[in-house]
Amino acid sequence: MQRIAVLTSGGDSPGMNAAVRAVVRKAIYHGLEVIGIKRGFSGFIEADMWPMDLSSVADIIHRGGTILRTARSEEFKTPEGRGKAFANVQRFGIQGLVVIGGDGSFRGADIFNTEYNLPVIGVPGTIDNDIIGTEYSIGFDTAINTVVDAINKIRDTATSHERTFILEVMGRESGYIALMAGLAGGAESILVPELRYGIDEVCEKLIHGYKRGKLHSIIIIAEGAGSGLDVGKQISEKIGLETKVTILGHLQRGGTPTAFDRILASRMGAKAVEILVEGYRKHMVGMIADKIVASPLDASFKGKKAIDLDIYNLANILSI
Ligand code: ADP
Repeated sequence: MQRIAVLTSGGDSPGMNAAVRAVVRKAIYHGLEVIGIKRGFSGFIEADMWPMDLSSVADIIHRGGTILRTARSEEFKTPEGRGKAFANVQRFGIQGLVVIGGDGSFRGADIFNTEYNLPVIGVPGTIDNDIIGTEYSIGFDTAINTVVDAINKIRDTATSHERTFILEVMGRESGYIALMAGLAGGAESILVPELRYGIDEVCEKLIHGYKRGKLHSIIIIAEGAGSGLDVGKQISEKIGLETKVTILGHLQRGGTPTAFDRILASRMGAKAVEILVEGYRKHMVGMIADKIVASPLDASFKGKKAIDLDIYNLANILSI
């Protein structure tokens, strides 16, 4: 193997740059040439790519977003689009591809490998932490720290005004951001798409809290579990309690990556190159029990990552 390529795809996440840096520098360490592909699979199709050297990834480890840019490409979902990408694989002599992104990007990489046999390695980069095969994905830790920071600020106002606040957070179909940020932020209720909740239950908890002297309450709702505004309306209808709703939105995706995400990204990016060199052909890297391990790429999107029930139950016990 002499030349590999790297791209970032799907939603950006803090730490993607640290992963790109690790891929480029570890590849050069192994004597490989690296091509950086811009705008994910779109740039792959359009030959928007250029050679990367050591200095091309200097001064990026602390930066959010991705210097390679990212995109969603409908064309790559078609055989014609992937055919164009393969023409570029031949044109540029690419012998392996590292895809940093979420499960959608892994699906694309998996199909591409099946059709054209190019070795592909996935590096999980998404704030949602919804990828099977890894306990943490790159960007998740930074995102939950952003949410916890928001909870802290909202708590100041909630306490001062003795109010109930609802905070809607990202995660697509996953409740991981809500769960972990909710536990770290001491939220009274955490609503996630993986587990059904009844509005009566939420109201009972609120009443119970107020009866025992709680001055305020914070409810975290994952975007996949419904709308914060709807929950607020239902609470008001059921028990006449006014709530304030904050939708955190895209500020959860940006920001300088935490040390945890930089370390994770560095280890995962390096491991991706290592296993490419070792001859792995269709795998992803993941962190399990603090070790960076390889697992089959298709396992990452064939099921749905389950929420950690122990942590959910703990959050409930501690928020009584
Ligand atoms: P993420 O990687 O963050 O989950 P998306 O689900 O938007 O983001 O996927 C990113 C890109 O991966 C898509 O825009 C598309 O180019 C590619 N992709 C996703 N699913 C497929 C698929 N079934 N076949 C081919 N390419 C796909």
